[in-house]
Amino acid sequence: MIPILENTDLQDFCLAFNVQGRKNWEEKPSLCPLCGHDKMGAVELLGVKIGPFFWECEKCFSRFLRYSYSKTKRMLTKAEDLWYDLEKLDTIWLELPN
Ligand SMILES: [Zn+2]
Repeated sequence: MIPILENTDLQDFCLAFNVQGRKNWEEKPSLCPLCGHDKMGAVELLGVKIGPFFWECEKCFSRFLRYSYSKTKRMLTKAEDLWYDLEKLDTIWLELPN
């Protein structure tokens, strides 16, 4: 298990959540910046922020930052009690929330 606080460069976290690059979109992009698909959704990260935290393409499932990289990092650092088991992320839906 990797506490977010120890994940200082945020790279592993973005990799695990399939977040593309460091560019951020304050408003939901109308087209997927990666594949051009025109249906974008939002992903909320419970315990960190109410409302969309990432934008997600409904076709290629790539995710994009809503907030700047440094703000994202600050917000995750504040969520001290939150942790993710990056190795079990594929089966996280099988477990109870922490
Ligand atoms: Zn896409």
